[in-house]
Amino acid sequence: MPQYRFASFAIALPLYRVFEYRIDEAAPVIAGTRYRLPFGQGTRSGILLEVSDHSDFDAAKIKVVRERIDLEPVLGGHMLALAKWMSEYYLQPPGDVLFQCLPGYLRGARAYQPLRVKRWRLLAADAEAISVLQRTSPRQFEICQALKCEPAGLTAVGLKRINPGWHPVVKALEGKHLIGWEWDDKPTPAVDAPVMPQLSAEQDAIVSAIEPRLQQFAVHLLDGITGSGKTEIFLRLIRSCLERGRQVIYLVPEIGLTNQLLERVRQRFGECFAISHSGLTEYQRFQAWDRFRRAEASIMLGTRSSLFSQCDDLGLIIIDEEHDHSYRQEDGVRYHARDVAIKRAQMLDIPIVLGSATPSLESIANCERSTFFRYRMDHRPTRFDPPSIQLIDVRNSRFDFGCAAQTFARIDAHLQDSGQVLVYLNRRGFAPIVMCHECNWQAQCRNCDARLTLHQSQQALLCHHCGYSEAVPEACPECGHGEIKHYGIGTEQLQQGLTQRYPDTPVLRVDRDVISSREALKSRLEQLQSGAPCILIGTQMIAKGHDYPAITLSVVLDADQALFSASYRASERLTQTLLQVCGRSGRGDRAGEAIVQTRFPEHPLMQALLRRSYRQIADELLQERRLLGFPPYARVVIFRSDAQELQQALSKLETIKTLLQQSPRFQQLSTIGPIPALMTRRIGRYRAQLSLLTTDHRLLRAVLASAMPAIQEIPSTPRASWNIDIDAYDL
Ligand SMILES: [Zn+2]
Ligand SMILES: [Zn+2]
Repeated sequence: MPQYRFASFAIALPLYRVFEYRIDEAAPVIAGTRYRLPFGQGTRSGILLEVSDHSDFDAAKIKVVRERIDLEPVLGGHMLALAKWMSEYYLQPPGDVLFQCLPGYLRGARAYQPLRVKRWRLLAADAEAISVLQRTSPRQFEICQALKCEPAGLTAVGLKRINPGWHPVVKALEGKHLIGWEWDDKPTPAVDAPVMPQLSAEQDAIVSAIEPRLQQFAVHLLDGITGSGKTEIFLRLIRSCLERGRQVIYLVPEIGLTNQLLERVRQRFGECFAISHSGLTEYQRFQAWDRFRRAEASIMLGTRSSLFSQCDDLGLIIIDEEHDHSYRQEDGVRYHARDVAIKRAQMLDIPIVLGSATPSLESIANCERSTFFRYRMDHRPTRFDPPSIQLIDVRNSRFDFGCAAQTFARIDAHLQDSGQVLVYLNRRGFAPIVMCHECNWQAQCRNCDARLTLHQSQQALLCHHCGYSEAVPEACPECGHGEIKHYGIGTEQLQQGLTQRYPDTPVLRVDRDVISSREALKSRLEQLQSGAPCILIGTQMIAKGHDYPAITLSVVLDADQALFSASYRASERLTQTLLQVCGRSGRGDRAGEAIVQTRFPEHPLMQALLRRSYRQIADELLQERRLLGFPPYARVVIFRSDAQELQQALSKLETIKTLLQQSPRFQQLSTIGPIPALMTRRIGRYRAQLSLLTTDHRLLRAVLASAMPAIQEIPSTPRASWNIDIDAYDL
């Protein structure tokens, strides 16, 4: 009879609990290892958390683990601790959080084996034995000769190139002890520094200020205008870190991971980095995770979830474009990668460096805390600073495909002067509104509360929320009238119009309809590298990260919508976008210009953009937020529900509210809801929300601490699901 101990496991389920199993006492157990566990009628994989000699339950009723999946743990002790913190802070189910820290490839039942490869080397320089082979076994001799020329040895791939049937030959040589193999898991060395660009005085001062603090926790915020050379500072700090033999995680927003950045990192450090982003397969991302874990790669360069990469000696975390919205995970486990990264750095007592030309108000407000250092960069190392924004008053203008006459005049001038022009329009497709004039019918998505967008090249009406598409109707589906009209401008129509107007100038378009991969983006943007005059039309995809020195004019076509948004974040977001887009221009040896078309030039935000810097606008927005009691001076928690019927979603939230109300201090919080969400129906589901708002963080945590145990028992089902969003972005 084997003796048992009791082990707790995390299983990827939306349940707020861990699961107990019996495990053979003699078996070695390491936390962070996955096991196959009997669960219901089948099996599940679970991550081992803790082992104990006793259980509070009837031991006979506790099931025994099936088998161990991994030979070594997939999550180290630090990552288990970080996940525990995330689960407690964000109030997310522990199993979901832990599995989310793993690469997708390891979330099922595949065993983790480090992706090491064998490397064969010549063992003895027994020249005589080898020369004998020349007569007795020419094939063995050939392999020995090849290995002699490769002191570093050869992998299976290399051996196969010499002899496609290499395997038995190599086995025979191994038997004669002439050759042998070792695991090839040496770190890829960083290349010697090529000639590095001269740092500006500003850059140099910042590098010198941060370098002495690289050994301990601190948050460093690089608050530098667009094009001020933040990347160069990151690269210098990375080098300092690598020289100490430590590893670095470098996070960028999805659209910020440009080929330009990859090239710069490669030029500086060679191949000693791993890349991870959503354009890769699960297996490729796993390979990157594994290379970093084995320290074969010293730098992990990737998007949000790369934050959960593990290694033995992490020395620095960098978050570029820290204000970017894509660092928030908005589905599944909800968290903010920047905030989790700061926690991770604190736990490891290492520095974290945030960079942005338009820092989030959260980070600016945090700079009042002692662990935050803020560094300002007010100049570009090139000749010209970012252009100041000019407004084009289009109240009485006639438009051609969204552009006013004054706008064309500016584009004409820049093209004649051999400049490149960037036109920003954050709306893809041909036209956003399709309707009938006789009966006011509008093309709506059948799954969402959203209009369908006309995509002329596909001859279809598309929903940008759920992907639903239908053919363009020949006549009005309501009244049968034969003429259906479209309104508004999308990038597809803009490209068509500009191509007609400027037949001799290449008009490139970058949006999700034409760019399906990073490679496609690369080839499209290569045309810009030549520096020849051209027009680049794009959505968010081109708003940041790119550095094309020949762009001399940035044009923003449709900024007005955001001026009247219901979101308290709208001004912050609009300011950030406009400054980022305008900051693409004038980065080379010619001054840039930036224009924004608006029907509301007198609007306070438009006036502020004209007269004040981002920092001044941010300070004003912060004052406003403080007065109104909004984030970052307040905390927002949103309970959301989505269901087959609106009533089901609302009543789920009513149940949650009733439980919250049992906490005596609940009345001190501001609450909104339950109310239907702004877009009530999305992808066929009805959505509602209940928001809690307070400036008293402790009060909020106290209410949640007393109510959550009961709320966590409420089932989240496909019929009506619920979840909680801590530090929600909007209200
Ligand atoms: Zn009609
Ligand atoms: Zn839809």
